Amino acid sequence: MTTPVPLPPDALQSAERSGDPSDSPVSLLCSELVRFDSSALGEFERGTAERVALELSDLSLSPQILESAPRRTNVVARIAGTDPHQDALLVHIHLDVVPADPSAWTVPPHAGEIRDGYVWGRGTVDMKNMAAMTLTALRRLLSTGWQPRRDIVLAFVADEELGGGLGARWLVENHRELFEDCTEAIGEAGGFSHEYDAGRRAYLVQTAEKGIGWLRLIARGTGGHGSMSHTDNPVVKLSEAIHRLEHHDFGLRLCRTSEGLVTTARQWHHADTPEAALQATGPLAKLLVPTLRNTYNATQLTAGLQHNVVPSSAEARVDGRFVPGYEKEFYEELEALVGDLVHVERTLHSDALETPFTGPVPAAISAAISAEDPQGVAVPACLPIGTDAKHFARLGINCYGFVPLQLPAGFDFPAMFHGADERVPTSALTFGERVLTHFFSAC
Ligand SMILES: [Zn+2]
Repeated sequence: MTTPVPLPPDALQSAERSGDPSDSPVSLLCSELVRFDSSALGEFERGTAERVALELSDLSLSPQILESAPRRTNVVARIAGTDPHQDALLVHIHLDVVPADPSAWTVPPHAGEIRDGYVWGRGTVDMKNMAAMTLTALRRLLSTGWQPRRDIVLAFVADEELGGGLGARWLVENHRELFEDCTEAIGEAGGFSHEYDAGRRAYLVQTAEKGIGWLRLIARGTGGHGSMSHTDNPVVKLSEAIHRLEHHDFGLRLCRTSEGLVTTARQWHHADTPEAALQATGPLAKLLVPTLRNTYNATQLTAGLQHNVVPSSAEARVDGRFVPGYEKEFYEELEALVGDLVHVERTLHSDALETPFTGPVPAAISAAISAEDPQGVAVPACLPIGTDAKHFARLGINCYGFVPLQLPAGFDFPAMFHGADERVPTSALTFGERVLTHFFSAC
């Protein structure tokens, strides 16, 4: 049961509501964090982590810096709650970013420019924005002498983009004690708005994520001279296998979360089918439609030694993702479809997740959104991506993807992830900071 806790007086009375969000502390902090290139082609997470640790120390917290490898830096801090009998809340935020190719950008990707109402740069949505919003919201609260009811554990982690082996997974395996009493978490990647009607928005909170099945498809055959006849060419077999995968109709498979989202989206957009309902969400469609099916995307090909030699094997790598509850079918259907042409090998497997949207954290999420957007509603959603939630869920923690952002209608949010010209509206940052202030004070 949650009892509403009033926000500390003045907690939300700041310049942001009336002033220019581009000059707000949250925009400035986000810009500053972006200036550390925490990608694998840059300096990894250490610089960003040290800046975050400084901020935490300044809030009178005691951050622990934990390096899993040189410069692969994690920072963990705990805010003590007033009620020692309550379980702790985890907030997990990854500090690494993917590399950026400056030639594809209109601004330097690590300059943290603030202009035209956006903070520009690698990490502004994935996910230094959340670090800035969380730290600014907590500063606002803690500076009033506020204390949360339950402990809040803040984990700023490394290596999410390449699987978390030096970040979340490493912490879970080597420093489990830091999360012992955590039962719920917020982190990547939901919380963004979808304006389905003028001024009416849904905030898609991630409560489910597809599982990951990375596969190697290996075709074997008889090699030989490129000028002669060949009936057993592995390149041809592999091509046919990929062709089948691409053109096979993998049926609709809705997890409980997607059933709920589709029902709601059909009302928003007066759509007849689940697919049409999610297609009608505009730019969000490319994120939401793939959650309705198991998917297999060929991403890498290897074959051949020389132009005039038919090889004796050929290999494709496939990034597969399965709907929660349809893991067995994911592997079986693939085998049935291409097993006569290629040998299928599993290279990486990660379980799907699904958490019901009930309990104190979902209640606090819904209340925090309505406090800042009275017509806004939190809607649970499944997302196709994998997040660090997979690692923290192993500790029995219920994870919710909640990075609150109120986005302008039509903004191509999915294109920002790993894309050129990644940017976040400064008004979305100030909105998110206010929502998180409500959330932390109520959770
Ligand atoms: Zn991310």
